[in-house]
Amino acid sequence: MSSVQAPTRHKVVVIGSGFGGLFGTKALRRAPVDVTMLAKTTHHLFQPLLYQVATGILSEGEIAPPTREVLSGQDNAQVLLGEVTAIDLETRTVTSHVLGRETVTPFDSLIVAAGATQSYFGNDHFSEHAPGMKSIDDALELRGRIFGAFEMAELGANRGDNVDHLLTFVVVGAGPTGVEMAGQIAELAHRTLKRDFRSINTRTARVILLDAAPQVLPPFGQKLGAKAKKELEELGVEVILGAMVTDVDERGIEMKFKDGRVERINTVTKIWAAGVQASSLGRTLAEQTGAPLDRAGRIGVNPDLTLPGHPEVFVVGDMIALDNLPGVAQVAIQGAKYAAKEIRNRLEDKAPQEPFKYFDKGSMAIISRFNAVAMVGKLRLTGLIAWLMWLAVHLVYITGFKNRLTAVMHWAVSFLGRGRSERTTTEQQIFARAALARLRRGATDLVSAPGAYDAAREVMETSRRQELEALAVEEARLTDSGARGMQSEQR
Ligand SMILES: Cc1cc2nc3c(=O)[nH]c(=O)nc-3n(C[C@H](O)[C@H](O)[C@H](O)COP(=O)(O)OP(=O)(O)OC[C@H]3O[C@@H](n4cnc5c(N)ncnc54)[C@H](O)[C@@H]3O)c2cc1C
Repeated sequence: MSSVQAPTRHKVVVIGSGFGGLFGTKALRRAPVDVTMLAKTTHHLFQPLLYQVATGILSEGEIAPPTREVLSGQDNAQVLLGEVTAIDLETRTVTSHVLGRETVTPFDSLIVAAGATQSYFGNDHFSEHAPGMKSIDDALELRGRIFGAFEMAELGANRGDNVDHLLTFVVVGAGPTGVEMAGQIAELAHRTLKRDFRSINTRTARVILLDAAPQVLPPFGQKLGAKAKKELEELGVEVILGAMVTDVDERGIEMKFKDGRVERINTVTKIWAAGVQASSLGRTLAEQTGAPLDRAGRIGVNPDLTLPGHPEVFVVGDMIALDNLPGVAQVAIQGAKYAAKEIRNRLEDKAPQEPFKYFDKGSMAIISRFNAVAMVGKLRLTGLIAWLMWLAVHLVYITGFKNRLTAVMHWAVSFLGRGRSERTTTEQQIFARAALARLRRGATDLVSAPGAYDAAREVMETSRRQELEALAVEEARLTDSGARGMQSEQR
């Protein structure tokens, strides 16, 4: 008996579910390929709005829809959870892990869009007390720490303690994320919380934005940077420039100025919004292809976003060093669409595209409600008009109609009113990261190894099941016999 094997379709693996990963996968919707999107989270994260989750405006679900749901209608795409730990360009396989389980996925074409992480410029121990802002975990931890600081201050003030260190918030890094974060904490202290406490006056909280650079928002140019600084100061934010952070501990932060002066700020809540480091997958790829890495770990790619000697491997987004392109969402989106089109062209025997060319659609940063700065081509906008532009752009790019709808409602609550819909915090949000860090292999230490199912547990489960069944029978008997509410001797 002879069997005819169906020709296998071209396999594309996409690493990452961020802007590059998701838009690359979607762009392959009509291509004759099977796509596997491998990512270490099951959601697509809209990073530009993380600061709104951290400050209680939006819920995490609004900015992080499940990729499985987003891609449910795309039959040629499969979503797999896993942290990629190895890429082998010779065997064309990607190895990923989740909770100790290993998966090896073969590819014909590969799109790597693993983004970047926070960089502490070689001082990784700062992260213990100054979380960054790169993930939903980060944003929820910060939410817990920010609102928690006000709670602890109220308790301390009740006892008559000095609570200045609890009411001081330091944001390190005066780029768009730092500016937005500082602006929102100031709004929290001055507007949202001002009537909620009895022993503290939240309006006396100090919000400090500090940076080693000589200006706020350097990529926006001097004029817009100066304008943003002035607006922040009017909002009550202290802006300290030319200050390098030299130490961070539980109770404070130390900084050094150019003239050698060292100062310390006593503060419990520190937020790190300075510096990025490209995914370490860049190093793996550089070692196998000879492509250069820059200081931020970004990999030098060919003008068509492929790697030297490997036309089947594309790298896009925050991981690449090409023509001084910025680390912004549009670079990732446009790069991923370019890579997807190139894969399609090759399968259809079409000529290669021209080298990748980034189209700059502009940048913007929010300072406070109804107040933003924006750059579109040669146009420089500030105030309400820039804020309205921000609103329109974000509404277009938030993924999913229901998320757009609820985000608008939450913005109305926060910008028209003074409330915040997402102020809930838990102890685990604040301390889970530190607890996991104390386990040798992180969360993996908390789960059983594959196949190591414990028979004793099965016995325990059986007796527990019998107990629950007996309880249910008794509950039903009590109801049916009308015995509830009657004294035991009457039954
Ligand atoms: C707080 C913040 C605010 C920002 N604001 C703006 C803004 O206003 N405008 C703007 O244009 N840009 C902004 N950016 C930058 C923008 O978000 C990035 O440029 C963009 O996300 C880059 O897309 P990417 O696909 O390269 O990476 P990401 O979107 O970061 O996606 C990386 C993906 O790879 C996954 N991943 C990473 N490592 C692995 C691994 N080993 N295995 C499997 N999966 C992995 C991650 O889970 C994630 O899904 C902001 C960034 C941050 C952090």
